[in-house]
Amino acid sequence: MTIDSLKQSQLMSKEISDLIISHEKVAHVQLQNPLDHALLILIKSGYTAIPVLDNDFRVRGQISKNEILDSILGLERLEIERLHDITVETVMKNKIPRLKTDATFAKALTTSINHPFICIEDEKTSFVGILTRSSILALVNRYFQQ
Ligand code: AMP
Repeated sequence: MTIDSLKQSQLMSKEISDLIISHEKVAHVQLQNPLDHALLILIKSGYTAIPVLDNDFRVRGQISKNEILDSILGLERLEIERLHDITVETVMKNKIPRLKTDATFAKALTTSINHPFICIEDEKTSFVGILTRSSILALVNRYFQQ
């Protein structure tokens, strides 16, 4: 095995724990929040999409500005007055990528191809934090620059 392929396999089998943004720093909403609250959090945080959690701190999905705006799209205008009557649970995306804290970097890299962020859970499926595609790319970049 060459030094390059040894380094590559070390990178790929590395665990993702060092790259996780901890849950305290992650903007999120809850299932029963109304859409006006979710939109406020999305706009104030500047993120396009954020995780949705339940009362037990488990990840149930993610919600984006696009899903919110799409849900209030009337025939001729955005029906903004409906934002308060619709809950996050009704419009969120519930099929989302998840990984455990001990997942390998290789698995995270593959998962990130189609997703800007991945939710990370512990062994009891409680929310630990997120892994962003940019942090994965930054590590790949460091690897190639060395
Ligand atoms: P980034 O790679 O930093 O641009 O993040 C990619 C995506 O991950 C963002 O568009 C958000 O959807 C999500 N994200 C990143 N950081 C946070 C955070 N602190 N809280 C909530 N969502 C985040």
